[in-house]
Amino acid sequence: MNARLREVLGEELASLKRAGTYKELRHLDSPMAPSVEMEGRGRVLVFSSNNYLGLSDHPEVRTAGVEGIARFGAGTASVRFICGTFTIHRELEDALARLVGCEAALTYVSCWTANEGLIPTLAGPADAIISDALNHASIIDGCRLAKNTERRVYAHGDMASLAAQLGELREKRRRLILTDGVFSMEGDVAPLPDLVELAEKHDAVLIVDDSHGTGVMGERGRGTAEHFGLLGKIDIITSTLGKALGGAAGGFVASSRELIDYLVQKSRPQLFSNALPPTVAASARAAVDVLMNDPGRVARLRENVRKVRSRLAALGFTMLESPTAIIPIIVGDTARAIAMSNALLEKGIFVTGFGFPVVPEGAARLRIQVSAAHTDADIDRLATALAEVRQA
Ligand SMILES: *Cc1c(COP(=O)(O)O)cnc(C)c1O
Repeated sequence: MNARLREVLGEELASLKRAGTYKELRHLDSPMAPSVEMEGRGRVLVFSSNNYLGLSDHPEVRTAGVEGIARFGAGTASVRFICGTFTIHRELEDALARLVGCEAALTYVSCWTANEGLIPTLAGPADAIISDALNHASIIDGCRLAKNTERRVYAHGDMASLAAQLGELREKRRRLILTDGVFSMEGDVAPLPDLVELAEKHDAVLIVDDSHGTGVMGERGRGTAEHFGLLGKIDIITSTLGKALGGAAGGFVASSRELIDYLVQKSRPQLFSNALPPTVAASARAAVDVLMNDPGRVARLRENVRKVRSRLAALGFTMLESPTAIIPIIVGDTARAIAMSNALLEKGIFVTGFGFPVVPEGAARLRIQVSAAHTDADIDRLATALAEVRQA
């Protein structure tokens, strides 16, 4: 290792520690579930995971993963167009397309990669991108890869700003509007009806990254489009398999057959990088089946969200309003959010605290994420512990 680089990295890490922004990884020695075995802590209740439907440790999801590796081995040992792809990839992609209400879908090894594989493939020098200010980092990086495209940002959820910019960009060959379906830090939902209308009016293409919406939003968990009665009306949806849909890894783009076929031809991660491992494809396929066959799971998630919200409201906590499974409690300054998160962990409850610069100064928060797998007893313990740490 280069001595100078080692020294500089050491200095930077020390400064992160001094600033209190150094991230310590916590090691779990059990599957992700409402309660996990945390090294050095024992059993801990988890209210900070994206395991919204409790599928990461579901018996059918586990079995399908094992069968996937038994049937197909570890992987293709190449990119898909050179050496072939597995039938389980096609089965998964068909199931994902049906789930989110699109003609076709294409998987990537993550939603991060899906966004990076999609955006620069569609946006060239004659085009424009307009992106919500609070979009996920993978959208931001995807836009950065479209380096010859005019790139704009509209204030979070500000339809007037978006409309004005669409007007200014009418000479462009193609206008791409980019938004998260559910925003991860606020837990709020993109105004899809307005976005669809604006996209139509200005002949723009609407791209919704529904990573926190898939499996969560809508009666059957088909996503933010279903929540608004807009299934089939979104031009392009991207989402992850790493949250509600089993939580392993993987992402996808869903859209028209033409768009998907175009990505197979042109999207660089498809052309130069391996496909999802078959074990992951098979377990995600099973997760979609469980979701489609048992809508009661989505109803349980919604009921748990309602219970957590009403318990916390009764305790006088200030929460941001939203219909999603993300409940941010605003506590003010960063040090307080981190101290409360640590105090909760002392009580065996895992809730993440976020402060500046991840969220605006003064709006530091605890972010509670609810799962269909949480029991009433879990919710009781969360409420009791939150009431106690607030006193401290
Ligand atoms: C979590 C998330 C991603 C990243 O998903 P991965 O599949 O883990 O790469 C992308 N976009 C949004 C909006 C997310 O919330």
